[in-house]
Amino acid sequence: MEKSCDLLIIGAGPAGISTAMHLLQLNPGWSERLLVLEKAVHPRPKLCGGGLTRLGLQILRDLGFALPLPIPHERIEDVRLIYSRRMIHVRGKPQIVVFHRPELDAYLADQARRRGVKILENQGVEKLVLEDQGVFVTTHEGLYHSRVVVGADGSKGVTQRYVNKGRTDKRVARLLEVHNSASQAAPLFTEHAAYFDFTPLANRLQGYFWEFPFRLEGEPAFKYGVYDARLASWRPKANLPEILSRSMAERGESLEKLKLEGHPINLFNPGNCFAIPHLLLVGDAAGADPLFGEGIAPALGYGKVAAKIVQQAFEHADFSLRNYRQVLLSSQLGGYLLRRWKVAWWGYRLGWSSVYMHLLWTLGDILARLWPKPEALYPG
Ligand SMILES: Cc1cc2nc3c(=O)[nH]c(=O)nc-3n(C[C@H](O)[C@H](O)[C@H](O)COP(=O)(O)OP(=O)(O)OC[C@H]3O[C@@H](n4cnc5c(N)ncnc54)[C@H](O)[C@@H]3O)c2cc1C
Repeated sequence: MEKSCDLLIIGAGPAGISTAMHLLQLNPGWSERLLVLEKAVHPRPKLCGGGLTRLGLQILRDLGFALPLPIPHERIEDVRLIYSRRMIHVRGKPQIVVFHRPELDAYLADQARRRGVKILENQGVEKLVLEDQGVFVTTHEGLYHSRVVVGADGSKGVTQRYVNKGRTDKRVARLLEVHNSASQAAPLFTEHAAYFDFTPLANRLQGYFWEFPFRLEGEPAFKYGVYDARLASWRPKANLPEILSRSMAERGESLEKLKLEGHPINLFNPGNCFAIPHLLLVGDAAGADPLFGEGIAPALGYGKVAAKIVQQAFEHADFSLRNYRQVLLSSQLGGYLLRRWKVAWWGYRLGWSSVYMHLLWTLGDILARLWPKPEALYPG
């Protein structure tokens, strides 16, 4: 016999947790009506740079989180965008806060539980069956029926397959990451800085190399990684391990002996399909920012929009979810993702040209100097 509920959220990462918390903010009665199914157990491993930008910090603040969050983090107040030894400084207090993802996600899930969100862990969803009245969801332990399902199960999740059935035009980025211990006296810690180095665009990379300071179990450490958007999919592929190794060597670090891990990210495109009747996608399942591969703040933002759509669906007893796309694209998150998508679309097609890149860096430098300084957001 199946268990029934109004809303099932599949995945307890930032997208799933944000959807649940926004729904409870709209109406605390959702506590009894929704269930989050998570395949792992928090704190679960999660390969990620852990950089949460101002958009995400604002969403957490609006959800009632007191900032700074009481978990280890590093504030980035000077984002250094590099191309061929030229550097643009994007400053803010802070621009980014870097977390260790397993800790951030476990903290968010714990806070959601305290506010009344029911999260069942160790519940990997295997299959969905979509019907006129809702969706049957099979996990390895049981069967659920729900009027609406939110797919928050990330880039490799099952839900997107049902929404994107037969589509072959989706873009998926490739990422590699390693981390290594660091000294608290290292300049990135004392200067609260992080690097995004686009120089490897000349070596077929459609992305950048990054270096972030962070805290691993409370100790100073660095994350290094490469992001390859592969938006110009007809171009030859870059050799990611080689680019990572060379970029680290330029900073006096060796890739040897470090544990190299990779993971794909589904990319946002305004042409993506975001929902079908009774099933909508949030976070990486829907698509992350194609310019930087930023997905944590967008995941929190998707949750805010999805909560509004789910609430409306139940108010009007209309589960087609056909307005999700339009509401999403006209939301603050939609504007953010559309701007990033346009810059990525042009940038990663023309990035092989050093003339184009130098022009872009001249323009970017002028803009960064003239841009008004954003309000201080994260006391520390
Ligand atoms: C190497 C790397 C570095 C990155 N660095 C950054 C960064 O610095 N800043 C940034 O903003 N973004 C970064 N990203 C992107 C970011 O990690 C994702 O965009 C973000 O995690 C998306 O959140 P989500 O909630 O959609 O998905 P996830 O965080 O992937 O959460 C999905 C959840 O669903 C669960 N799940 C999966 N399948 C099932 C199933 N079948 N049944 C039940 N549960 C399931 C998973 O266990 C997981 O808990 C990076 C990504 C990579 C790969």
